Amino acid sequence: MNVLQVSAEIFPLVKTGGLADVTGALPAALNAAGCDTRVLLPGFEPIMADLHSTTVLAELTTPWSEPFVLRVGHLASLNLLAYVIDLPLLYQRPGTPYEDDQHQPFADNYRRFALLGWVASRLAGGLDANWQPQVVHSHDWHAALTSAYMAFSPAQRVHVASIYTVHNLAYDGLFAPRHFFELGLQSSALSVEGMEFHGQMSFMKAGLFFSDYITTVSPRYALEIQTHEQGYGMDGLLRLRAKELVGIMNGVDEVVWNPTRDPALVHPFDAHKPAGKSRCKAELQQELGLAVQSDAPLFGIVSRLTEQKGLHLVLSVLDEMLARGGQLVLLGAGDASLEAAFRERAAANPQAISVHIGYDENFAHKIFAGTDVTLVPSRFEPCGLTQMYGLKYGSLPLVHHVGGLADTVVDCSLEDLANETANGFVFYHFDSQSMVRAVRRAFALYARKAEWRAVCTRAMCQSLGWDTAAAQYVALYRRLCL
Ligand code: ADP
Repeated sequence: MNVLQVSAEIFPLVKTGGLADVTGALPAALNAAGCDTRVLLPGFEPIMADLHSTTVLAELTTPWSEPFVLRVGHLASLNLLAYVIDLPLLYQRPGTPYEDDQHQPFADNYRRFALLGWVASRLAGGLDANWQPQVVHSHDWHAALTSAYMAFSPAQRVHVASIYTVHNLAYDGLFAPRHFFELGLQSSALSVEGMEFHGQMSFMKAGLFFSDYITTVSPRYALEIQTHEQGYGMDGLLRLRAKELVGIMNGVDEVVWNPTRDPALVHPFDAHKPAGKSRCKAELQQELGLAVQSDAPLFGIVSRLTEQKGLHLVLSVLDEMLARGGQLVLLGAGDASLEAAFRERAAANPQAISVHIGYDENFAHKIFAGTDVTLVPSRFEPCGLTQMYGLKYGSLPLVHHVGGLADTVVDCSLEDLANETANGFVFYHFDSQSMVRAVRRAFALYARKAEWRAVCTRAMCQSLGWDTAAAQYVALYRRLCL
């Protein structure tokens, strides 16, 4: 089965969050399950630099009449065949893939990402005489116009299925409708039965409306986005399409996230040889200037600092965590007021709180390895990967019961400890009272060394790899190609 994955990010080349981890791991998992997977990516600088043995597949012109080249080549760091849109004027700029240095979205984002979908539909239509995708699988709003362009393409000899995965409904790709005429779509695409959304054009809605099938990244989130509270105005459409919507839980890339052979760690460890973990903790405490105390529970956060992530709750329970002898390390960047609030707390308690504003892949690995608890108190969380990295690295997740967090973490209640399913700490109401009780449960379990070790062992032995998700995607692809 030939599968084309379409996305704006791919680990390890371009990453702003979990999307990249998924699109970086899924192709290999699909190939292991028998697919022939290729990817289509924008020609961001790290992608162009990693692309080898390239040939020009086609010289094309954008719907707004800008010439560009579509290359096909081999992504060395992923050992993967990739189609790459080579148009430096659109993709090679300082900043993130989506924003400039001043954190302002690029004004022409609608063009930059519409082109990704437009090229995907050309590949679906047989642009590469040597490789015909049977499934085109696009990810998040950046790639969402794929399904719209495919829906308006001339009928094919073979049906090519379009699948659209929502990684986060909150980021919807809304643009002024005046730009619509530049995109080369038929005018009916911008209607209520299409990508029109309260007078704007919504790339997200295009993906949700035009794709043959919608997936999202956890079973619970698939239900949550059909509700008014979490639907961002798309819940009606999602309820209409409920029969073509499924939640498939993300996996963990065990090549990248594996404490037995993680190059970021000086002391490897696993569930059966946990001594390395204590050394990682002591080293982390020392490196961060925290009191080097093996018996002080060390809490870790690796996160975008946005309202979604519920970090104001951490600020509100911090005093209690410290009073009980806990420590905190945070790595993250984003909202300036959250950055300032955490910095302030660290300055007041340098022996117990260490805050690092920025993005650092290597340091993130050290945090999961060296901490006892990974905090993920998100207000909403489509899947969440950090709680799963916490499980793999024996840093028990403490999470709000929502989305993928609810699907992956079982609270250390007495009954779930007794039936050996508990693997972390869960709070059910999104408020400080509820979170602080979960924090107390973490301290209570930490004081019972044998039980703590048993839960850590169970967490680290959990099977979280991509094979389960890959099998579900392949079954879905097969069904759609019948
Ligand atoms: P989201 O996609 O909403 O940001 P996920 O939990 O799905 O949340 O994925 C986040 C990914 O980004 C994880 O791989 C996490 O380790 C990584 N990450 C987030 N912030 C940072 C940071 N400041 N430095 C390094 N990695 C980070």
